[in-house]
Amino acid sequence: MASIQFKNLRKSYGDTEVVHGLTLDIADGEFIVIVGPSGCGKSTLLRMVAGLEEITSGELLIGGRVVNRLEPKDRDCAMVFQNYALYPHMTVFDNMAYGLKIRGVPKEEIEKRVAGAAKMLELEHLLERRPRQLSGGQRQRVAMGRAIVREPSAFLFDEPLSNLDAKLRVQTRLQIQQLHRRLRTTSLYVTHDQVEAMTLAHRMIVMNGGVAEQVGTPQEVYDK
Ligand code: ADP
Ligand code: ADP
Repeated sequence: MASIQFKNLRKSYGDTEVVHGLTLDIADGEFIVIVGPSGCGKSTLLRMVAGLEEITSGELLIGGRVVNRLEPKDRDCAMVFQNYALYPHMTVFDNMAYGLKIRGVPKEEIEKRVAGAAKMLELEHLLERRPRQLSGGQRQRVAMGRAIVREPSAFLFDEPLSNLDAKLRVQTRLQIQQLHRRLRTTSLYVTHDQVEAMTLAHRMIVMNGGVAEQVGTPQEVYDK
């Protein structure tokens, strides 16, 4: 768990600025949902936090430390993608274990953490399967398991439910809510879906054209 701070964060592609100086303090354990129309800069913001996009100017702090220059793997954020991004040739166990292996976590610790996450996410009976042998909902649970085992400072969710059908979306959303209640990991969550925003967010960032137009609780945002 960690606080996250945006200090006048900007992103340009060439001459075009797509995030225009965003400043925000996110508390330890807070669940932030980022909404806004397509192209408003949501993914770019998330990817800057993850270290997948270079920050053009401004400062990004995680746990009080400026991380602008750190590689993704040193930022201690775990990202959950819309398309799951699992390794097709690896088993569920190996998919969840991979991020720990590359960071040199000892084998027993890896086994313990994967077992714990598998239990939380009801994946225990699927650990030897490959991703193609799983339903969409199961794949997304594996993607979340892979994030959880890292015990990161923050979770970054990029529209994690948009490839699921309506019923699985509800189930998986409830699971994300339960996980947050249990782990209290600071979370940034991008979505188009109002129900997801309403039910998950402590605070929402409403983006438009690279600007945070509104920041507030769902009630504050929807009452306006
Ligand atoms: P959102 O996630 O809200 O749909 P994005 O963050 O993906 O929006 O994109 C914000 C803006 O940045 C858009 O205008 C998009 O076209 C532009 N953009 C995104 N990635 C690149 C890139 N690699 N090169 C140039 N422009 C980009
Ligand atoms: P969904 O509609 O949720 O995507 P599917 O209809 O694909 O689910 O699968 C239903 C069940 O069958 C799931 O529990 C899944 O784990 C299992 N299953 C699907 N494909 C395979 C496979 N190739 N091998 C073993 N089990 C599978």
